[in-house]
Amino acid sequence: MSRVQRLYRLQSLDSELDKTKQRLADIAARLGESNALKEAGQATKIADQNLHKIRTKMRDLDLEVKSLSQKITQQEKLLYGGRNLSAKEASNLQDEVESLKRRRSQREELLLEAMVEAETAEAQLAQAQTALSSIQAEWTVDQEELVKTQSELEAKVADLLEQRPGLVSGVEVDDLEEYEDIRPLKGGIAVALVKDGACQGCGMAPSRSKIQRARAGQELTYCGGCGRILYVP
Ligand SMILES: [Zn+2]
Repeated sequence: MSRVQRLYRLQSLDSELDKTKQRLADIAARLGESNALKEAGQATKIADQNLHKIRTKMRDLDLEVKSLSQKITQQEKLLYGGRNLSAKEASNLQDEVESLKRRRSQREELLLEAMVEAETAEAQLAQAQTALSSIQAEWTVDQEELVKTQSELEAKVADLLEQRPGLVSGVEVDDLEEYEDIRPLKGGIAVALVKDGACQGCGMAPSRSKIQRARAGQELTYCGGCGRILYVP
């Protein structure tokens, strides 16, 4: 195996390692509550609070109607209960009863409106809960898959890291230094494959003599376009 071939083997492993680590980073970012889940949870909470507010209003109105009815009954008892009232007292009492009845009928109307509002709010809450459950179910499946893939990828990283020293030991010290210097400067790719006469790092076509030297692999040959070490299989 030539010098360059050994470097290329290391490069392939490191590229695989980089790709796997990138996928692990993507998974880490997707683990946990998604935005869709947060939004659906928030929508359900708001719908629930809205319904609660309307129900409280209904309860208050209902209590008020009951208390007004009680008052009306009391006043009517005074009015028609056979007590001797002066004409003025009877007229005042009559006015009060009428005023209480007007107030009661106004509250009853508001109560009816609130009941209609509550129906709408109940439907909205049910809709929000349905959406939340469906998003939650999807999210759970998605998370399970992510966790599974994560552990597979972690095993792969461990495996690659175990293989790496074996490949490193086959590379000459100077070549390894050169490789480690170039790699971070070239997006992680220090050794570029030449395929169909073109450098796969930048697309430029090296000269025929350069390709020959690279194929022999006894010295490091660099791409004139991107500066990477050329590997010709
Ligand atoms: Zn190139």
